[in-house]
Amino acid sequence: MTNQVLYRKWRPQKLADVVGQESVTQTLQRAVATDRISHAYLLCGPRGTGKTSTARILAKAVNCKSPIDGEPDNECHACVSISEGRALDLIEIDAASNRGIDDIRSLSDKINFAPNEFRYKVYIIDEVHMLTEQAFNALLKTLEEPPDHAIFILATTEAHKVPLTIISRCQRYDFRRIPLSAMSQKLAELCGAEGVEATEEALEILARSATGSLRDAENLLEQAVVSYGSPLQGDQIRDMLGLGGDAEALKLARHVVTKTVGEGLSTITEVSNSGADLRQLQRSVTEFLRSVMLIKSGSTDELGYSEEVTTQLRAAASGSELSHLLRAIKAFSSADMRHDSSSPLPLELA
Ligand SMILES: [Zn+2]
Repeated sequence: MTNQVLYRKWRPQKLADVVGQESVTQTLQRAVATDRISHAYLLCGPRGTGKTSTARILAKAVNCKSPIDGEPDNECHACVSISEGRALDLIEIDAASNRGIDDIRSLSDKINFAPNEFRYKVYIIDEVHMLTEQAFNALLKTLEEPPDHAIFILATTEAHKVPLTIISRCQRYDFRRIPLSAMSQKLAELCGAEGVEATEEALEILARSATGSLRDAENLLEQAVVSYGSPLQGDQIRDMLGLGGDAEALKLARHVVTKTVGEGLSTITEVSNSGADLRQLQRSVTEFLRSVMLIKSGSTDELGYSEEVTTQLRAAASGSELSHLLRAIKAFSSADMRHDSSSPLPLELA
């Protein structure tokens, strides 16, 4: 693997390549294809879900010399200079570090000048919720009467902190956490492209621990490849992430379901004696119990566990009582492990 960070190297170059945000990207693609381009977009959603990538692709698509069905061709001068980060007409501002009135004012002053070389001047303002109130007011003035050649793409992880006056001037798109299956599939593609072998289980554990952020998943994959090379196994990933206790957590969850108190307590003692993190055990057990409850109540939601684990969870569900599960989940999720993560007592009480 090269020294280029994976998530940069494999950053999507087309709207269709953005993982897990089909409703957003398809709408944008249609808009570009039919030349219904807005002057202000607001992209909201958790970190690592593709907002900035989408903003850059959109900047290419609207400026591309020969767009293909709303997608950039990634070959013309506009596309290439944006990909290489040297386009004069794409201005990226990180509002976390340029949040003041002067930053926005200097932007508003320059905005009336025609683009240097492209059809549109595109301003991407990342983490826009960080702007000061004055800066928002200055931005609002610009958004109220944007010149024809300007497009604003605002991105934020915290849409509730963006003033409604700004939001109402924008076309809003909500990015969701990337589903586990889409994430695992993307990681498998990356491994294929990088010549790394990895078991399905290894990728599943990586995807799960990234909680919906593809950037996190890609960084974890890179870390795993650097540490272990190829092929990647589930056990290695568990070691890397400090998840040694997953098998024990599943065992404990099954003892809880079947109310076998003695065995349950001895499982906790084993984990405690092995020096593993009991808070991790607590999280995993709670998560397993929740899955058993979901299966029990007939949910068909994607649980994202391997076939083997899912089979065990289903078996546990068939012998369980819903009311007992609810009590157990409450007890385990509220067990207070904050003060002393090495004491098994709170878990034993639960
Ligand atoms: Zn192009």
